[in-house]
Amino acid sequence: MIEKLEALFERQLRAWPLLAKGVEGLARAETRPVRIDRYEVLVRHIPHRVGSTTAAVDRESIARRPCFLCAANLPAEEEGLPFGDDLTIYCNPFPIIDRHLTITYCEHRDQRIAGNLGRMLDLATALPGYFVIYNGPECGASAPDHLHFQAGLRNLLPIEKDTQCANGITLPDYGRNVFILRGRGRSAIIDRIERAIELLAATTGGRAEPMINIAAFHDKDEWVTYLFPRGKHRPNVFHTGELTVSPAAIDLCGIFVVPLARDFERINGADIAAIFREVTLPEDQFREVAAKLENER
Ligand SMILES: [Zn+2]
Repeated sequence: MIEKLEALFERQLRAWPLLAKGVEGLARAETRPVRIDRYEVLVRHIPHRVGSTTAAVDRESIARRPCFLCAANLPAEEEGLPFGDDLTIYCNPFPIIDRHLTITYCEHRDQRIAGNLGRMLDLATALPGYFVIYNGPECGASAPDHLHFQAGLRNLLPIEKDTQCANGITLPDYGRNVFILRGRGRSAIIDRIERAIELLAATTGGRAEPMINIAAFHDKDEWVTYLFPRGKHRPNVFHTGELTVSPAAIDLCGIFVVPLARDFERINGADIAAIFREVTLPEDQFREVAAKLENER
């Protein structure tokens, strides 16, 4: 799979100017480390992300535009690699990380993780060196109407290093609420993630799916998954215009995307810590779900 992907990137960089521009843009992107407590977050200035950061994802706006993930609407130059008979892997023309991929279901259907975790784990297994992410329809997916994942190389990803020695399902003082679930058995880890999602749904209520971002990778015969339960989609500073940021899975994993130069210059660890606290699930609800999950171990 990796060889086929490398060949796909090579072909698409030649054939698809938008991708070439995005990859060049990423190569020029400045990255600056900031600290939250004893952990590092990489702030990355990527001007070409401004469209995704500010994308309107309300029902009416989505209904008004043609779906940009449906095969029939893709640019003529865009080519994908099939993954099984249900998924296609594409190069993301607005990359945040190296080898940024968008992986879409062939069928146009709503962004929902229920019933699709297995495919996410399969992708993680097929893509050594990568991590795979899922952004919930109300917390970062810019196509909430078409089921998709993203993936990319994880060599820069702070969370992998941050959680290497963590034994529990949570990491104290991490500055953001995250469940860390690991396992070697495919069905056992799917059950565990589904149970976490079920508990979150029961605690937060009122939605088809609790607000969630997920990241997963496969290494040394083990899946490592991160579940970020969300309290809200965008932070207040986005709505007031103070900072144009809208964190999703990659940001929560420690690569914080900032499309505007003025924000990149002034944003600091305390700002990011406050944003993480604001958009992830409030502490009391997080503790409640964590305690239940721990008890079921
Ligand atoms: Zn679609």
